[in-house]
Amino acid sequence: MRELVGACKCCNKEIYCLDGFFNGMHTDDKEIFCFDCYETEVKKEEDPQA
Ligand SMILES: [Zn+2]
Repeated sequence: MRELVGACKCCNKEIYCLDGFFNGMHTDDKEIFCFDCYETEVKKEEDPQA
């Protein structure tokens, strides 16, 4: 079972839900990121000092 959830806000990679496992990350703004972009984009915003 593979369900297309959307595309990564940053790199446009398609994000799927695989057997209940979400292949990416949601932000509080209901944006979708792949794991790679979540690491670089979202964490950067949360912790600008890093
Ligand atoms: Zn991405």
